[in-house]
Amino acid sequence: MQTLPWQNELLDSFTQPEDLLDYLALPSDGLARYEASERFPFRVTRSYASRMEQGNIEDPLLRQVLPLTEEMTYHPDYLADPVGDREAIAAPGVLYKYRGRALLITTGSCAINCRFCFRREFPYHQSQLTKQRENEGLAYIANDSTIREVILSGGDPLVLRDERLNVLLQKIAAIPHVARVRIHTRLPIVLPSRITAKFTQCLTRTQLQIVMVIHANHANEFDDKVRAGLAELRRAGATLLNQSVLLKGVNDRTQTLMELSEALLQAGVLPYYLHLLDKASGTAHFDVPLQEAALLHRALRERLPGYLVPRLVREQAGAPYKIMV
Ligand code: SF4
Repeated sequence: MQTLPWQNELLDSFTQPEDLLDYLALPSDGLARYEASERFPFRVTRSYASRMEQGNIEDPLLRQVLPLTEEMTYHPDYLADPVGDREAIAAPGVLYKYRGRALLITTGSCAINCRFCFRREFPYHQSQLTKQRENEGLAYIANDSTIREVILSGGDPLVLRDERLNVLLQKIAAIPHVARVRIHTRLPIVLPSRITAKFTQCLTRTQLQIVMVIHANHANEFDDKVRAGLAELRRAGATLLNQSVLLKGVNDRTQTLMELSEALLQAGVLPYYLHLLDKASGTAHFDVPLQEAALLHRALRERLPGYLVPRLVREQAGAPYKIMV
């Protein structure tokens, strides 16, 4: 099968922290090399790296992807499965947590590996929706007529080829009670070349309503290519929302969060969720305490119109909905 330009770009990603630091003219001491290679691999697209500031170890984009020695510190409250994903596995590749919605783990791969990821230890090899398990997973959804929405998640569903996504959308569209598909993806931000005409055709062809929830945490993540890709998605009829994670050293200032909301609106995306950190092992250094998060959110409410203020939420294992803070 022919490799597409966006796939080549993906293959050309940084996979060693030292190489990224070298590209950014930074020294590479103090890295948790063992952790990076053994526990959660390092991966960053060149496109995303090009938006980092040269020579700035505190760069908010770099901080999201750089494995630090702090990841190796054990914290009893930080768990392998902080949001109860494993308990929620209902069928091969299917997570069922909230009424009316089923989530498909379409792949374990992402274009970048975010160090704060709550699924960094998810057992993808056992629980992703492989082609072989696809029909079994979809049969679960077909058998539950209360499911109105199917969420394509992962990993990142947009690392899949268009042909696979197309077939998946067709099979979901054939289930009469499913009205819409929500796609959770970071690729429009970290690999904007993924938004090809062929992909947007997949969206326009389906009769399903498409909601895309992208993931940006900082205004610096937007450039002309990202905005152009998002404009294509809008033209294809997708409703665009954003979810962010509140991260220490990345976006834990009122001004930074305001700029993110403005950048999102400029790109035609509405802020949806601002998540408190899910306490996954190795991520404690990103935590913003609840009190501080609530104050930041109040400051946003005081300064921005309501539609630019994301809902501050946290996910609690076993809860029937996300908890508003
Ligand atoms: S893109 Fe999403 S799923 Fe992938 S590593 Fe980042 S947070 Fe996790």
